Amino acid sequence: MLLSEGFVFSQSSLQDYVDCRRRFHLRYILHLAWPAVESEPVLENERYMQQGERFHRMVHQHLSGVPAERLSGLVDDVELAGWWGNYLHDAQQLITPAGLKKRYAEFVLSCSLEDCRLLAKYDLALVHEQGQITIVDWKTSRKKPVRQWLEKRLQSRLYPYLLVEAGARLVGGKPILPEQVQMVYWYPAFPDSPEIICYNTQKHQEGAAYLSGLINEIQRLDESDFSMTSHTERCAYCVYRSLCERGVRAGNFDQVLDWLSEEAEPREGVSSMGGFDFEQVGEISF
Ligand code: SF4
Repeated sequence: MLLSEGFVFSQSSLQDYVDCRRRFHLRYILHLAWPAVESEPVLENERYMQQGERFHRMVHQHLSGVPAERLSGLVDDVELAGWWGNYLHDAQQLITPAGLKKRYAEFVLSCSLEDCRLLAKYDLALVHEQGQITIVDWKTSRKKPVRQWLEKRLQSRLYPYLLVEAGARLVGGKPILPEQVQMVYWYPAFPDSPEIICYNTQKHQEGAAYLSGLINEIQRLDESDFSMTSHTERCAYCVYRSLCERGVRAGNFDQVLDWLSEEAEPREGVSSMGGFDFEQVGEISF
């Protein structure tokens, strides 16, 4: 096995593998840092990433008890102000629903699968008095992806799976049934249209088989099996493109977001065009 001892799988590493085996190999086995930008224009990309990080930080502070007025005074960017205003106006019912029992912000869960560890960092989980649990994930993308695409994301499979397998401490040690779990993707740029993805036993079983299969497959591969993706369009947004001789210039930031919004029939496993995970734009990495 090429993976280092104690390798921990996350949605990012698994998604990288599904998108391009070569990228997984370069990033997680060779640990190769490559000095390239993911998208152009660089400054706009960086600014946008920072705003996403700031939004996540502000929401976390707010959920930790810092008064909204104090946080509002820190906003000096029009786009961030819009997101923050939408959060304050439209997300309060989501984060403080009737019958809320407990709220957990920014926490990590992990479990073992196929002798490896799986790990996920959650933005927020809401435990309801009736036993339901809502996973909330803040998505600061400028375009909203189609639902089918979101449902196929590794995140949509891994987060509910891990919550059922390893989240008992959130509910006083009781086992969590898949039917108790739902996931909400909430977009501050699109406050009226959150995506709610329900979970159930069938999805849990399929998710377990899918994740096990992926991990098993990765463990069995030799160096030569980590081939480059045949979807060359993804390479424009991947930092390794010059190493792979798949171009020098980064793809355009706006175009990748357009692609995201227009993709009506997402292909299995497509999450990011190359290394540029545009759904994670501006979100806190871990
Ligand atoms: S440039 Fe293309 S082939 Fe190379 S690692 Fe990135 S996505 Fe894979």
